[in-house]
Amino acid sequence: MDRYVYYFGDGRAEGNAKMKDVLGGKGAGLAEMTNIGVPVPPGFTISTAVCTYFYAQGRTYPPELQKQVLENLTTVERSVDRKFGDSGKPLLVSVRSGARASMPGMMDTILNLGLNDQTVQGLARSSGDERFALDSYRRFIQMYSGVVLEIDKEHFEHELFALRDRAGVRTDAEIPAESLRELVETYKNIVNKNGKAFPQDVREQLWGAVGAVFNSWNNQRAITYRKLNGIPDDWGTAVNVQSMVFGNMGDDCATGVAFTRDPSTGAKRFYGEYLANAQGEDVVAGIRTPLPITKAQVTGDEKSLEETMPAVFAQLQDVYRKLESHYRDMQDIEFTIQSGKLYLLQTRTGKRTGFAAVKIACDMVEEKLIAEQEAVERVEANQIVQLLAPVFEAKAKAEALSGGRQLGRGLPAGPGAATGRIAFNAEHAVDMARSGPVILVRIETSPEDIAGMHSAAGILTTRGGLTSHAAVVARGMGRPCVVGAGSLRVDYSRGELKAEGHEPLEEGDWVSIDGSTGEILNGQLPTRPSEVQQVLLEGSMKPEDSEIYRNFDRLLKWADAIRTMGVRTNADTPEDARVARLFGAAGIGLCRTEHMFFNEERILRVREMILARNEKGRRKALEELLPFQQADFEGIFRELDGLPVTVRLLDPPLHEFLPQNESQISSLARDMSWGFVELRAKVAQLHETNPMLGHRGCRLGITFPEIYEMQVRAIYQAACEVKKQGIDAQPEVMIPLVGTLKELQITSEMVRRVAAEVIEERGVDMQVVVGTMIEIPRAALIAEKLAANAEFFSFGTNDLTQMTFGYSRDDSGSFLPEYVDKKILPKDPFESIDQEGVGHLVRLGTERGRAGNPKLKVGVCGEHGGDPESIRFFRSVGLNYVSCSPYRVPVARLAAAQAELEHKAYEG
Ligand code: PEP
Ligand code: MG
Repeated sequence: MDRYVYYFGDGRAEGNAKMKDVLGGKGAGLAEMTNIGVPVPPGFTISTAVCTYFYAQGRTYPPELQKQVLENLTTVERSVDRKFGDSGKPLLVSVRSGARASMPGMMDTILNLGLNDQTVQGLARSSGDERFALDSYRRFIQMYSGVVLEIDKEHFEHELFALRDRAGVRTDAEIPAESLRELVETYKNIVNKNGKAFPQDVREQLWGAVGAVFNSWNNQRAITYRKLNGIPDDWGTAVNVQSMVFGNMGDDCATGVAFTRDPSTGAKRFYGEYLANAQGEDVVAGIRTPLPITKAQVTGDEKSLEETMPAVFAQLQDVYRKLESHYRDMQDIEFTIQSGKLYLLQTRTGKRTGFAAVKIACDMVEEKLIAEQEAVERVEANQIVQLLAPVFEAKAKAEALSGGRQLGRGLPAGPGAATGRIAFNAEHAVDMARSGPVILVRIETSPEDIAGMHSAAGILTTRGGLTSHAAVVARGMGRPCVVGAGSLRVDYSRGELKAEGHEPLEEGDWVSIDGSTGEILNGQLPTRPSEVQQVLLEGSMKPEDSEIYRNFDRLLKWADAIRTMGVRTNADTPEDARVARLFGAAGIGLCRTEHMFFNEERILRVREMILARNEKGRRKALEELLPFQQADFEGIFRELDGLPVTVRLLDPPLHEFLPQNESQISSLARDMSWGFVELRAKVAQLHETNPMLGHRGCRLGITFPEIYEMQVRAIYQAACEVKKQGIDAQPEVMIPLVGTLKELQITSEMVRRVAAEVIEERGVDMQVVVGTMIEIPRAALIAEKLAANAEFFSFGTNDLTQMTFGYSRDDSGSFLPEYVDKKILPKDPFESIDQEGVGHLVRLGTERGRAGNPKLKVGVCGEHGGDPESIRFFRSVGLNYVSCSPYRVPVARLAAAQAELEHKAYEG
């Protein structure tokens, strides 16, 4: 006989963690916890095969199912010593969906199933709390009617509000038992009025609920969710039927959530929150501020679980240790205490900040729980930038604290220091953030606030714990965040933030929050670079004084040992080059020479060069520019001593250097001793309708060869100069925007000729390396021919994306967000490489390029070089290196190692 039902309870489960296909994620987790001896309320899982059958056979069940369900129900009854439908000691169950992949909130759940007019009395007697029993019953009728009988919950809510008014109470918890009894009758009448009957037969209830869960697999919400997340429709959901436990049956009951390590800092300490005499949803809803679990977490006169229920706390400690060593990762657990007995309802890998991710990974390697390679896999590459976020200047903060500027303290929910102007709602935050940093201050946040949270430098709430919406979202976004600052009051109607002993603060006033400590300070506070920067870049902190730095360094060194792809940087100044080198860059992959031209001293000469009436005039201006360029290159070569520096010759459209309006033209005319009218005519003549597709890149080098000649001269003179001083300069010259073979031949020959001249003149031994960018689709298509004239390729994926899609890099903001919203594109292709289209050109260009020149070195220097997902793709193509901005270098190092591990696993 086929097995459709799997039992779990009393330390024995028929399933395990590996059976997600059959049991769904939740069912497999419950089975696994049961197997390792964690106390889980007993129950059973109806497998996903039943869901498949249900849809294949006209929404019917396999004939064996009924018997298997009833047998398992009996086992549950025996386990908890209660009977389903019994008027003395009734068994109540929850019925929940649980697919292979998590689909949060998409399908239906029913709690307290098994209550009817008789069993409610049994529950009242056995719990000794009639009010609780009646409240559970009316909640169940409402839930069942909504999910199974499809009656609009509005009808029920309406009656509940009316009753609260009549009874003169504000919250549901204050409604007395007599009124609840009345409400139960009213609810049943609502069901009747809707032409349905609320089943008193508990088995009918059970089958109704099971059917509703299977039906909910195909509700519109679930279908859409699957489509968006690529979950196959034929996977089906499992159904979990589990005996209910109650955290709201008296003072020896509680419910809570906890992390096995601190999700904010990663510190190895048990950390969590609980509410006595409450239901799980009360903790998540943030209606009451939860209390700390451990004594160490206590700040005021609140009592921790460790103090109020020491025996259960000890058991909880055992359980969390067991779970952590079993899953070998930080867990986020949900538990309920019923009449002094502990039950675990869920365990899953806990979400964490970048700080916590790095520390936990390093600590677990030390504790021999995981290997170095696993540590590298576990830290999301993007998260590591959080370790580079600013902190408050220690002295200024100490002065603010001693000067009475502390407004209060909340829970440290997202590390990092933030200072900004107060915005009381998300819309204002978005507007205000345009002109400076904003702190979004709310009583609590909800999903509508996402845009405001995103644009804010920091987030402060007065209610809710470490699992509140604000805390979870801020951690995900890497925003400094303080939550549950209960001593502060937010008054939205007056637009005020009040703290005792302080003048109320208004919208637009400055406030500072420290998301690592929970402190809230009045006014603006100066921030300092992160500890990592203080150690690495400033030398103002010693490595031995910063655990954050030491872990950062360890993790990245493990990553370096794994990765095969090089990481270079895009840097145009010696300072950027220094930063990138300290962050671990192995050279410069793109030095954009035009940025050197914008400096005040130079721009006039650049303009003179562009506007020159003839070649002679142009050469004169260029001669004056040469020493500047040479000095810039010398600075960079010094920083990069021994590492390659890819210098790109001039690329941008000339109009970028020209004055744009009449007053600028008039002042330039004065500086250049030109007539205004003449200059204006010349500027108009150089005007281009579509400059990004116009006179730029190597087209400039071909029409004005003297520009490129000057640049090449400056590069090699600088290299020879520093070489004489004992510095190992390794220039590589890169030609931008090549689209035809001739363009590359003309420009590369020119580079080699001028370079040879300089080398000869200076009598220095130096190699000449010339390569090209691949930024135009045509270049990728003729890569084989180009490669015969180049030592390296560097994919300029910014332009390549622009030209492959035909989207302007500068103007796509007007439609791309909508394209992403409407799922026309999965992501902004300028942020993460479009693998199927642009990526295809990268692959093709690489393969053909290597066919034309087997020694060809291939890299990428567009923005995608710092994006982990794109890096994974570039590894699969087999690029030699990626190049990204200096602060992304650590991200790229980690991502390249992760890409390597995935690639190896894929290759088998
Ligand atoms: C590119 O196009 O990807 C590139 C790196 O060059 P730029 O962004 O300067 O055009
Ligand atoms: Mg480009």
